[in-house]
Amino acid sequence: MTATALAVTGLRDAHGRTARDLRVSLTDRCNLRCSYCMPAEGLPWLPTADVLTDDEVVHLVSVAVRLLGVRKVRFTGGEPLLRRGLAGIVASTARLRTDEGLPPEISLTTNGVGLERRIHELAESGLNRVNVSLDTLDRERYAALARRDRLPDVLRGLAGVEAAGLRPVKVNTVVMRGVNEADVVPLAEFCLARGYRLRFIEQMPLGPEHGWDRSSMVPAAEILEVLGRHFKLTLAEQRGSAPAQEWLVAASERHRAGRIGVIASVTAPFCAACDRTRLTADGHLRTCLFAHTETDLRTPLREGATDHELAALWQAAHLGKAAGHGIGTPGFHQPARTMSAIGG
Ligand code: SAM
Ligand code: SF4
Repeated sequence: MTATALAVTGLRDAHGRTARDLRVSLTDRCNLRCSYCMPAEGLPWLPTADVLTDDEVVHLVSVAVRLLGVRKVRFTGGEPLLRRGLAGIVASTARLRTDEGLPPEISLTTNGVGLERRIHELAESGLNRVNVSLDTLDRERYAALARRDRLPDVLRGLAGVEAAGLRPVKVNTVVMRGVNEADVVPLAEFCLARGYRLRFIEQMPLGPEHGWDRSSMVPAAEILEVLGRHFKLTLAEQRGSAPAQEWLVAASERHRAGRIGVIASVTAPFCAACDRTRLTADGHLRTCLFAHTETDLRTPLREGATDHELAALWQAAHLGKAAGHGIGTPGFHQPARTMSAIGG
């Protein structure tokens, strides 16, 4: 198959969607232990030999960008800042060109710990945007929730992203009943005052111990109801393939006008518009966070498969992408890998 033929078909699936957004997990390890994501003792980490090297990551990203129509690349984990070669991986990704002849849009999802020290090098390497995960502004609650007392470090990281000019700065918050519901309004005010884009996320059944329970999940409608009591909200444009439905927030004496998003992954799934494909730290392709099958790209890569062979494997796997995640349907069960091991 020629490069041109591959680029024309791209990463299509049987439900008419085309994937343009690649999420790459750079490690399954993390320096925090957020209770909704990891058990206190951590997880059995991937053996180092199984984790893709920096060159292997760049090789597979380059196949996706050059041959398969991927235009956006997001590095995540685990905690991607734990990856020493991150800036080099970003720089090599920034040198690629998409089917439109442009560099891919490169972003990072991080817990923000240690970000302040790394952000300038990352920005110079070609990083375009950063999402920082922050579930509370209360130091004690943060320490309990993340099982590490790192809130000041995260806040310095966020300020660093702003200082480096990587805008819009995005903040992700998972809302958990009985844990951080009281943080919804303070977090919104904090972000609006600084011009950060805050997105509240419904908790998904991807945590440790398979302890998720729909009835105790805080649904988007409830988050919006709380926000609506404190802010003047107007629905922004329709979200397209973006997971967050955004709301425009009118200015007040406490904050400027801004935007807040709500990601209703469970109660209003965006699967029909999903444009994502995922690569795990050990080089397995996943078509969905909730997929039960994976395609090993690491073995063929290490055995010398050509780029076109790798692209063909990727395309074939993508054709089988499920129509939706099926949370709430009778046959649903959580995938074996948890969020940190898949790459959130
Ligand atoms: N360590 C980085 C971080 O925390 O941003 C990147 C990886 S983390 C798995 C990516 C995102 O997934 C974070 O925003 C986190 O809050 C979110 N997340 C983790 N477990 C989740 C769950 N069970 N439901 C919803 N979001 C979850
Ligand atoms: Fe680590 Fe991110 Fe999971 Fe928290 S959500 S434990 S920071 S991977």
